[in-house]
Amino acid sequence: MQINNNFIKKLLDLQDLDIIYFNVNNGIFNIFATSSNKQVYCPRCGHITNKVHDRRYQDYEHLPIWNLKTIISLEIKRYKCSCNPEHPFTETFNFIRKHQRRTIAYEKYIFTLAHKNTIQNVADIIGISHGACQRIYNFYAKDKLESLEPEPLTLLGIDDIANVKVIITIQ
Ligand SMILES: [Zn+2]
Repeated sequence: MQINNNFIKKLLDLQDLDIIYFNVNNGIFNIFATSSNKQVYCPRCGHITNKVHDRRYQDYEHLPIWNLKTIISLEIKRYKCSCNPEHPFTETFNFIRKHQRRTIAYEKYIFTLAHKNTIQNVADIIGISHGACQRIYNFYAKDKLESLEPEPLTLLGIDDIANVKVIITIQ
């Protein structure tokens, strides 16, 4: 079977990404990719621009594919807009957090592991520092707490209270 770029794109399961090239070397699955959006909204004025100022590659670790360490070498462009041509802005991707070197999907996987484990164990398994693991855990734990919605109130009639056993669950 020929493995093509489209298949790799499906495996990554990340939005708005075009695969340029991939290979496996020394146990690392390395995927070169670029945004499929060829124009972006200027964060300053809101207009669309397609004027690329420069481009570079940045590596992000993603969920392992076939148990191989998986690195996305992502092309990151800086765009210029006529509202302020002296100050290009960097394109953003919805699957990475600012200043992070792992995809959100991979960070969430680390968080899930750390939830049932010690930080040190997970750091050892994943091969990252204790501090990096702790920071990922703290971010997603806080995120999870803040997104918890209070349970909706259910109004019970007197008869209901008399006849049903009310079970209160605390998540
Ligand atoms: Zn602009």
